[in-house]
Amino acid sequence: MEVNRRDFLKIAGAGIGTLVLPSLDVKAAAIPGNLENAHAMLYDATKCVGCRACQVACKKRAGLPYVMDENQLYEMPTDLNGDTWTIIKLYQDTETYSYVKKQCMHCVAPACASVCPVAALEKTPEGPVVYHSYKCIGCRYCMTACPFDVPKYEWDETNPIIQKCDFCADLQAAGQQPACSAACPTGALISGTRAEMLAIAHQRLADHPDQYFNHVYGEYEVGGTSMLYIAGISYEKLGYPTLKNQPIPDITWPYMKAVPFVFFGMAGAMSAIYYWTHRNKEEEEG
Ligand code: SF4
Ligand code: SF4
Ligand code: SF4
Repeated sequence: MEVNRRDFLKIAGAGIGTLVLPSLDVKAAAIPGNLENAHAMLYDATKCVGCRACQVACKKRAGLPYVMDENQLYEMPTDLNGDTWTIIKLYQDTETYSYVKKQCMHCVAPACASVCPVAALEKTPEGPVVYHSYKCIGCRYCMTACPFDVPKYEWDETNPIIQKCDFCADLQAAGQQPACSAACPTGALISGTRAEMLAIAHQRLADHPDQYFNHVYGEYEVGGTSMLYIAGISYEKLGYPTLKNQPIPDITWPYMKAVPFVFFGMAGAMSAIYYWTHRNKEEEEG
């Protein structure tokens, strides 16, 4: 049974809460083997000057619109959204400050892909987690599952889809850098294999222990990510949650397997998944 996006929205809109969609291909996200040689990027917050050349380059390459105010002046977004795949933010307190870049982390074992009932999100062996909009049924489970709150929905569009950074998969496949790292004038963003990025990150920490918080964020969190971070202050201050090393699909997959694709049952399963993927953040904040 083929269920396309329009059918799904019609069914959901009709409020049929217990309909079973028998042939939807609910399965664990394929997790390719050794990703140490896959594409990765390192963001060094101590080298970032907040120029936002990366943000502009990302919009340009992806063809994302600029939001203008009533005077046709560009209005800076405050977070990732349907038109913004990456953003530079500033942390500041009385003693210190740091810029921080937000974008999809391209998890080694992505929670978003593990809960997608139609495999619209896919972890490629090359590293990027890519989104196939033509497969998407608009259920937004990926938004609930992502521990970094990355996927955004086009709430303003009549036929909305999910939006997120695709790691410039096309450019990287052609042997080029992602647009954001190519545009960075200070070397705060660099790209290469995951093994290379980890080696550089650890070298910088070893060479300048006084300048860095002693942790490479993304090396182990939720099974590791292809987007890696080093910074001069703690990652909690920069908005990155403290997460366990266990890949989230290890947790979500038993729910997906145990519950057939019944909307009624999925509501409970997704609540449990949200609890698992976000509880560390809530524990910290509490
Ligand atoms: S950061 Fe979120 S959207 Fe990106 S790959 Fe990981 S789970 Fe998916
Ligand atoms: S990797 Fe590409 S899509 Fe992702 S933030 Fe950088 S420029 Fe944008
Ligand atoms: S281009 Fe480089 S220095 Fe400028 S904001 Fe982006 S990461 Fe920071």
